[in-house]
Amino acid sequence: MVSEKISSAEAIALEDRYGAHNYHPLPVVLSKGQGVYVWDAEGKKYYDFLSAYSAVNQGHCHPDIVGAMADQIQTLTLTSRAFYNDMLGKYEKYITEYFGFDKVLPMNTGAEAVETAIKLCRKWAYEVRGINENEANIIVCENNFHGRTTTIISFSNDEVARKNFGPYTDGFVKVEYDNLAALEAALENTPNVAGFLVEPIQGEAGVYVPSEGYLAKAKELCEKHNVLFIADEVQTGIARTGQLLAVNHENVHPDILVLGKALSGGAYPVSAVLADDSVMNVIKPGQHGSTFGGNPVAARVAIAALEVVKNEHLAENAERLGQIFRSELSKFAEGNDFITLVRGKGLLNAIVVNDTEDSSTAWDLCVQLKENGLLAKPTHGNIIRFAPPLVMNEEQLMDCISIIKRTFSEFVK
Ligand code: PLP
Repeated sequence: MVSEKISSAEAIALEDRYGAHNYHPLPVVLSKGQGVYVWDAEGKKYYDFLSAYSAVNQGHCHPDIVGAMADQIQTLTLTSRAFYNDMLGKYEKYITEYFGFDKVLPMNTGAEAVETAIKLCRKWAYEVRGINENEANIIVCENNFHGRTTTIISFSNDEVARKNFGPYTDGFVKVEYDNLAALEAALENTPNVAGFLVEPIQGEAGVYVPSEGYLAKAKELCEKHNVLFIADEVQTGIARTGQLLAVNHENVHPDILVLGKALSGGAYPVSAVLADDSVMNVIKPGQHGSTFGGNPVAARVAIAALEVVKNEHLAENAERLGQIFRSELSKFAEGNDFITLVRGKGLLNAIVVNDTEDSSTAWDLCVQLKENGLLAKPTHGNIIRFAPPLVMNEEQLMDCISIIKRTFSEFVK
């Protein structure tokens, strides 16, 4: 049955009938991917301009990653952490040296890694900072997106993600993003602040790039108040924004770094929390874990995925192509009233169109882009995120830019 070919219409009908309706996908059914391209069930080829929300930075089915995975999957898949395995230690050494931290705590999904960071921060607050148990607060930003667990949605502003999932978890205080005065006031006036959790660029909110200096100054303020700076780089990390990490643009070394998505190049769920010993050593056996976290396939795949990023200079490529993307589309935007703004960093960009947040314009444009051979997804009714695999070359990018321009021109007519 699984090898039987089905049409796009059949695949959509199956998901509709048997799957929970917790997503609203663009009406395209993908059955193959290679590099920057994906193909639908009928064989039509598209440029992928979402990269599974920045998980497929290394391109679809990268041979080095798939090769490492295929080899490992035939050797040893899962031991749990009840026993040691001979891949995890190698991976832990590799990733900690790669990002410059003492230790890593391996998990699977982004949300789990954020949960881990929150738990780590709280434990550090009680055991190192001496805050009274159950009284620690973590400062978060308005319009954040950190995942879907009960604790994480407790401090979301997104009513769709939150409503009727209460009661919510306490211990979070929201401040406006990209507002240092608000952060400083919260640090001064909130009792028992233990951490500041922040996305270096707010991806889901619509690719909001903070003002230059925001992250560096925020880190400084955290240091002044002995508060952990926790960078959620699940979407922005691993070369996406033109540096290995988005915080590298401002030379910030977070106290806790949260990674996911592209840590496996999209081949496998792999996430990680990195910190130095002074923080990570508060976690003792039995206090946190996951059956699959740190399994040998994940470990092997993550090393391969990180090697690709270095060997193929993906950060440099993202930086260079990102400049071209924004410059070409900003020029195009000058000639019409329809595009309000083009913003982003590296190859994490967004186009804001002249309509309301609850309009269907961005969705309709994405449907039209799909017809023209390029897949992107709105973040809001008037914002489209553009985030292709970082293995794209300039010729492919120019082809994509002409598809985007043509589609926008057709749309306004
Ligand atoms: N944090 C950020 C910044 C994200 O963008 C996401 C997902 O989009 C997550 C966390 C959650 O990751 P996951 O969907 O793997 O749980």
